[in-house]
Amino acid sequence: MSERRTSAAVALVAAAVFVVLAVLWVPWDPVPGGALPAADPSRYFTDAEIARGEDFARWARVWSWSSLAVSLVLLSLLGLTRAGRALVGRLPGPWWVQVPLAVAAVEVVVRLLTLPFAVLLRRHVLEFGLSNQAWGAFAVDLAKSEALDVAVTSLVVLVLVGCARRWPRAWPAVAGPSLAALVVVGSLVYPLVVEPLFNSFTPLPEGPLRARILDLADREGVDVDDVLVADASRRTTTLNAYVSGFGSTRRVVVYDNLVDDLGEDETVSVVAHELSHARHRDVLGGTTLGAAGAALGVGLLGLVLSRRRTGDAHDDGGVAHPGNVPRLLALVAVAGLLASPVQNGISRQVETRADVDALRVTDDPDAFVALQQQLARRSAADLTPPAWSHWWFGSHPTTMARIALAESRTAQSEVQPLPVATASQVELKMSRMLSPKAKTMTTIRAAMPAIRRPYSTAEAPRSELLRAASMMRR
Ligand SMILES: [Zn+2]
Repeated sequence: MSERRTSAAVALVAAAVFVVLAVLWVPWDPVPGGALPAADPSRYFTDAEIARGEDFARWARVWSWSSLAVSLVLLSLLGLTRAGRALVGRLPGPWWVQVPLAVAAVEVVVRLLTLPFAVLLRRHVLEFGLSNQAWGAFAVDLAKSEALDVAVTSLVVLVLVGCARRWPRAWPAVAGPSLAALVVVGSLVYPLVVEPLFNSFTPLPEGPLRARILDLADREGVDVDDVLVADASRRTTTLNAYVSGFGSTRRVVVYDNLVDDLGEDETVSVVAHELSHARHRDVLGGTTLGAAGAALGVGLLGLVLSRRRTGDAHDDGGVAHPGNVPRLLALVAVAGLLASPVQNGISRQVETRADVDALRVTDDPDAFVALQQQLARRSAADLTPPAWSHWWFGSHPTTMARIALAESRTAQSEVQPLPVATASQVELKMSRMLSPKAKTMTTIRAAMPAIRRPYSTAEAPRSELLRAASMMRR
């Protein structure tokens, strides 16, 4: 089979697997009785709070979108003109040295030219009192995050280039499954390797809260060895929690400021949402879909980047040639942006189910609403984001959509006790794949999805810039 045919076959098989997984495992109809219209912000927030959220979102969007646009333009210039090839040509060493150097060079160029937006965005975040982090610590987080991106992206590109050099025609059939396996391994080791780079974790101390959480987990039939508290308050003022890992690495993590600042009922509501993710194995489901997506990406890449005869009758080396690394990175960035609505659309379904579960399990819509109010105030959330922006980038339902779920729960409870929903037989689920924060960088890590399920979009171990960038999706 030719390189192009192998690529097409890999893409077709992976796409079929993705569609079957998505049809079976995504809760396409998570709200009993059908989707609800969003609640009215003026019933839950003051005019000043509503205006503050809009103010924050306006400039957060401007800086995030500018950063994204500049990085895409830069990547296109490097990837689609001779500039990128010339850059790689000057790098020393054999191909397996040139590849990581090329990835690092592209990443650093993009980072430096988008740095002004990062600084502007961070000043904006500070002006709104959304960060506790000093500039020095911010820079350290940014550097760590950058190094991690270079390392993960290099590994992925090395696999691609290595396979293409070893098996010039059949490489997509080897690289596709290999990258799919990398996604699964990445998701398993992420909580153990990456999360500790950004936070430290301590077990939630013995006490009524811990007892309630473990009791809830027990009633829901979720295996939870421990509930961990992350020291997020040294970085951010916003509140969050998440579940990550699966199998023996699964963990429920709550932010310390959530435990400290919220009432016990609100904290239990957050944890009930996370336990729903755990019960439905959402991280594993997202990882599986992400693995199929990665293999699909390899097939498409093979179709676009297969060896071509150039003008002087030499072929351009295709994926096997390190000179094409900038082009590969540009294609991945564009593909990531185009795939966002699919990934986020699936993620919103999963998140809605977790909210519905949390309301059912706790039977405490008041605490759920109080929680949404707190979260929105603390993160200056835009309560009525533009529909297109939310459709494209929103990994979670909007605050007002979440409150509408609680309103309907309250209305139902007044009429009759609710039936206990049965756990779906097919429980895997999709997740946060990539997000604007991932795409403001070059990032093949965009293809490393689904590794954690935060409670809300503002989330943990990335830098303030990235956290803020993700908030524009509300
Ligand atoms: Zn969630």
